[in-house]
Amino acid sequence: MKRFYWLILILVISCRANAQEDNSNHLIPSASQFFEFHNAFWTNMHHFLYVKARAQLNTQDSQRRAVIGVKKDLDRIDQLPKRDRDIWEKTLLYYRENLASASILFDRKLSKISGLLALEESNKSIQTEELDNELVQILTQAAKVYRAHWWPDHKKKNKEWVDSMSPLLKEHEVKLEKRLTSIYNNKWPAEGMRVDVCAYTNWAGAYSTWPPQRIAYASTDSTLGGTSGLETLFHEAMHFVERVVSRDLYQKTRSLDKQIPSQFTHAIIFYSSGYAVKEVIPDHVPYALARGFWNREPWKGNLILIEEHWVPYLEGKISLEESLDRMAKSFK
Ligand SMILES: [Zn+2]
Repeated sequence: MKRFYWLILILVISCRANAQEDNSNHLIPSASQFFEFHNAFWTNMHHFLYVKARAQLNTQDSQRRAVIGVKKDLDRIDQLPKRDRDIWEKTLLYYRENLASASILFDRKLSKISGLLALEESNKSIQTEELDNELVQILTQAAKVYRAHWWPDHKKKNKEWVDSMSPLLKEHEVKLEKRLTSIYNNKWPAEGMRVDVCAYTNWAGAYSTWPPQRIAYASTDSTLGGTSGLETLFHEAMHFVERVVSRDLYQKTRSLDKQIPSQFTHAIIFYSSGYAVKEVIPDHVPYALARGFWNREPWKGNLILIEEHWVPYLEGKISLEESLDRMAKSFK
């Protein structure tokens, strides 16, 4: 009998090892000591389905630059064997009906699903028991199709993007980490900075969510490479680092019975990340400037206040405390 139990135990362990077999190469080696790049199957498929289903729902943001390429990427669907096409269409129908109308950034349910799938890395099958059974079944079926037709290409593009960023990170990331954590009077998160590199993420190309704390980053968005990519990586990281400053600004503003303008703390992240990258790479054109953010509201009004009260702090002319006091007083 004892031998029988051992046999069962060995079988259970080997089944589990088999389910996780694919998981060994989900990390992309890079020169970075601050960012950990994941090239994982489930989160890539999930974002791909989300973006495509959203395009089918004709959401306004499905025309945006970071997701427009999904149409071309799906051209080959007509060439798939009928069985695969049926599975894929059924999966897209599920996404349209259950997930795709929500914001992957702000909707708590969808954000939780995305987080759980990210942690599945490239397991051969989904291990968590926290996901809805129907979703697990749908994704398990779709996995065969995605693995056969798109994953090799997406995986390659993700790795190529990390490889292209590696020299820039190697040269500049230490200075940027030091400068930006000092600006925000905070430390780099002790748990590190996980980046889920995906062919597609959402209309913005990159976004940050927690828990678990992670950045989702689109490898196929042509505007998110080079020095813009460097700025965007640090921009996303600052969403986890800026909390102390945001909290202090909020308290000061509240004590004056005033309100922080829309997108103001986000505008500070845009400005500061672009500013810090420009300090180390003088030719760099900050992302918000290059994309025309400062020409339209609410960014335009925010820039006036930033130039008046935040830039003197960046230039070392006033303290953080004074900068925040001045900003709070300037609000309505
Ligand atoms: Zn942001």
